[in-house]
Amino acid sequence: KFITFEGVDGAGKSTHLEWFANVLRQRGIDLLVTREPGGTPMGERLREILLNQPMHAETEALLMFAARREHVEQVIRPALQRGTWVISDRFSDASFAYQGGGRGVALAKLEQLEQWVHGDLQPDLTLLFDIPIEIARQRLANNVSLDRFEQERGEFFERVRQAYLARAAQSPQRFAVIHAEKTMAEVQQALAQIVASL
Ligand code: C5P
Repeated sequence: KFITFEGVDGAGKSTHLEWFANVLRQRGIDLLVTREPGGTPMGERLREILLNQPMHAETEALLMFAARREHVEQVIRPALQRGTWVISDRFSDASFAYQGGGRGVALAKLEQLEQWVHGDLQPDLTLLFDIPIEIARQRLANNVSLDRFEQERGEFFERVRQAYLARAAQSPQRFAVIHAEKTMAEVQQALAQIVASL
């Protein structure tokens, strides 16, 4: 299975991912955890650039999908082919949310890139950690160093959040929306139910 984790910065996605992956491993599932942008040596180099270098919104979209092309080919597809489950911390939905909703890149262009890069491969399940933006911002405020995206204003994240929700509404069978403002225990309970359903 191919499972992706999505959400605005500060939703707690990466923390919950770790917990979720451990639960699956305890159940004996052969699992590979990866992330975007990144996941391959070249993808990690592109991540460095993407997180630090200001650039045109469409350049950003193209580099995200370039990194993804490597990621799909070198990591995700081979793992799935040998029967390993893959969990990715972000995938194309993040491009629709951040480059599309956040930065205003035309959806039709992103859809073309998606078709190009992984037209025949979609996640089986996407966990969207949804949270009101003020709460996410408060959580981020404790971080010492924020990347180029995390320094954006509240309105940017509001657009990102809405684009994620629109994506989820388009493919309700693929998405599970998690209310990430809830306590750790409540979120873990929701995740445990998802594990059981898998
Ligand atoms: O998930 P993580 O916080 O590691 O992502 C790194 C940064 O890249 C985030 O700030 C996220 O907003 C940004 N990003 C993006 N577009 C993507 C994927 C990630 O803007 N397609």
